[in-house]
Formats: sequence, structure tokens, C-alpha cells
Amino acid sequence: MADGILFVISAPSGAGKSTLIRRLRQRVDGLGFSVSHTTRPPRAGETDGVEYHFVGRAAFERMAAAGAFAEWAEVHGNLYGTSFAALEAEMSRGRDVLLDIDVQGALALADRVPGAVLVFVAPPSPGELRQRLESRALDPPEVIERRLAAARTEMAAAGRYDYLVVNDDLETAADELAAIVRAERCRTCRRIAWLDGWSGGSQP
Ligand code: ADP
Ligand code: 5GP
Repeated sequence: MADGILFVISAPSGAGKSTLIRRLRQRVDGLGFSVSHTTRPPRAGETDGVEYHFVGRAAFERMAAAGAFAEWAEVHGNLYGTSFAALEAEMSRGRDVLLDIDVQGALALADRVPGAVLVFVAPPSPGELRQRLESRALDPPEVIERRLAAARTEMAAAGRYDYLVVNDDLETAADELAAIVRAERCRTCRRIAWLDGWSGGSQP
């Protein structure tokens, strides 16, 4: 795969990850987004091929069996997967790539892609997470309870991520995310080719 950086972003549902990713892409250029496949039905306002590629379970399972996914997982009763094709589509445009994937998928990908950067977005407190899930008004009460229970397990994995952003004040959290992307781009190991240009004595 090409040289772009993979930024893998996970969060408990309702922590504000989608909102933050939108802000991040407004602040920082050169960030593509890997469009996952899912068996979940589209929500109002979602378009096939934009938020997700929406597919039936049989089609998803065929893709998984054919090795089309870099990772996939069952999340809240639906299947979600990152296809190699989605990653390559963004990478081939010379971009770094954002992946919005759950904790299981993130940790699986980290094992397979050594340079991937793992960022965990946490809500400031369980009470605030409940409030955000309720105010978003997308899910019935029993689904909200399930998401809150899942959040406890997901928070337990946060220690395995490279970065932790607490999404209390939205602008501060978006600034922190942008700072992570910019700092990762400045890592010496990612600028070796540029640095090598100096060894011949001419300015790169
Ligand atoms: P996720 O993608 O993590 O499930 P969303 O981005 O849909 O979460 O955000 C959940 C709800 O919380 C939305 O109504 C969103 O407007 C709100 N929200 C996101 N970030 C903040 C924040 N920092 N402060 C207050 N509300 C927020
Ligand atoms: P939602 O249905 O609310 O869009 O997403 C539910 C969860 O699935 C979120 O935690 C999101 O990060 C995760 N998710 C989305 N795409 C993928 C994917 O390709 N792989 C994995 N493992 N999780 C995903």
C-alpha cells in the first residue's frame, strides 16, 4: 500500500466522533475517508457510497470469505468492514486516510498495519454520553441502554490507543485532533525520502 498515514478513530457511540471527523476535515487538508461496507440499513439522510456502502448480509459474507476486507467486525448486531479497495482508493490519491471503526476493528488493523495511528475519542462522562445519545434522538431507549453498556467495554480499550481526545468542548477537541494529524505528518520516519534528498549535497 502507498505511503499515506492511516488514522484510525474509535469512540463509544454518541461521543461525537462523526461531528469531530467533519470538523477535522474542514481544518486539515489531504485527509480522505475510507467508506466502509455495512449490513445496517441506511438512516434518514444517508446515501449509499457516501457514509457507507450498504449491502445485504449474504453479499457482505461473500466479500469477507473472498478476503476483500482489511478488517471486519459485528457491531451492535450489524456487520461492518473496511475493504482493501476503499483504503486503496484513498491512498492512491496521495492522501492520508481516516477510518471511523470500532474498537475490535481498530485493534485488528493495528496488528496488520504497523504504522497506523490509533486515536480514541472519549465523552467527558457517562452522564454526558447519555445526554448526547438522547439529544441526538436517533435511537429508541433500549438501543441507548445497549450503547451505554457497550461504552463501558469500549472505554476499557482506550489505553491501547496512541492518543486520547476527550470531547468535552467541541472546538478544543477538534483542535487536538488536528494537532495529532499535523504532528504525525512531521514524524522524521515519514520524511526520510525528503531527508535523503540532502545526502547528495543538493537541496531537496
Ligand atoms: P458519534 O458519531 O460518536 O456516534 P455524533 O457525532 O453523532 O456521535 O454526536 C452525538 C451527539 O452529540 C450529536 O447530537 C452531536 O451534535 C453532539 N455532540 C458532539 N460533540 C459534542 C460536544 N463536544 N458537546 C456537545 N454535544 C456534542
Ligand atoms: P454507525 O452504525 O453508528 O454508523 O456505526 C456503528 C459503529 O460501527 C461505530 O463504532 C463505527 O465506528 C463502527 N464502524 C463503522 N465502520 C466500520 C468498519 O468498517 N469496521 C469496523 N470494525 N467498525 C466500523
